[in-house]
This record gives sequence, C-alpha cells and structure tokens, in this order.
Amino acid sequence: MIVERLSIELTNRCSKHCSFCYNHSQPSGDTSWTPDELVNFVLECQKRGTKAVSFGGGEPLEYPGLFEVLQRLRGVLFRSLTSNGLKLQGECLKQLVAANPDKVHCTVPNGG
Ligand code: SF4
Repeated sequence: MIVERLSIELTNRCSKHCSFCYNHSQPSGDTSWTPDELVNFVLECQKRGTKAVSFGGGEPLEYPGLFEVLQRLRGVLFRSLTSNGLKLQGECLKQLVAANPDKVHCTVPNGG
C-alpha cells in the first residue's frame, strides 16, 4: 500500500482555544516532534511513494520548527499547511513566504 498524502498534527498548541476543538488544542499545548524527526519521517515516506504532506495542529504556525521543516522539504514533495490565520501577519508571514509552502489553507475567522 502506498500512502500518497500524509497529514501530520505538528502540535496541539493553539492560541485560539476553541471550545469545540477536535483535538483539544490550547495555548499551553505541546508537541513531541522535533524538526529532525519530522523531516526524516517525511523523507522515509517520500521514498515509499508519498507525494504530499499536510501540516496541521493545533496551529502549525505555533510550532517553532515549521519554517525549518518546510524549507528542508522544499522540492521533495508537495507541502501544505492549515492555519487559523491569526499569525498570518508581520514577521511570521514573512517567514512563511520565505519558506514557500506549496499551499496554505485558512480556516474561517470564527471557525476551527
Ligand atoms: S483554531 Fe482549530 S486547532 Fe485551534 S483551537 Fe480552534 S479548532 Fe482547534
């Protein structure tokens, strides 16, 4: 079996803290992934046929290693993320543009 599309919850940290959050994300949420673990895992999957990886959470922009991971996987496979949009401004937005993901999904302002 080939897993063509991979979806990874980077963290369950999210400053939006919606009461209905599907994985109970919250501002004090955490992660166990390191950037090296993520990149190595995705590269192994890519060698076995994975063509795309999608990063979610929680809020992926609240995962400190996101930009490094996106940059290290650039050109390897399709990279996307789903964000609540709260951090899509200022320095964070500049860093995201520099990391150049292939696609960014934004959830609605009052949704999840
Ligand atoms: S924005 Fe999404 S990830 Fe964040 S708390 Fe709300 S439902 Fe959960």
